[in-house]
Amino acid sequence: MPTLRELILAAKLADLADHWLEARCCGATRLPLAMLADQRAGVTVRAVVDRLRCRQCGGKPASVVLIEHGAAGATGRGGSPEGWRLAL
Ligand SMILES: [Zn+2]
Repeated sequence: MPTLRELILAAKLADLADHWLEARCCGATRLPLAMLADQRAGVTVRAVVDRLRCRQCGGKPASVVLIEHGAAGATGRGGSPEGWRLAL
């Protein structure tokens, strides 16, 4: 039985298009998956996470979190204020 984390990493960007990735290193960067899915809908979340690099130091982020839309406090489309976060 795969864990939720494994299921998310194996999911296609298009399937999680209403979620965000947050990469933390020198700072926190939030990436809307909807934007990434427009270019690479068939790519898995794992492929994106593996390629994430810090914009400031160029290293791999210390942590990556998947955020349900709304929990990110994101602008634009609405979302539930009770969104969940999951460390990947
Ligand atoms: Zn950094």
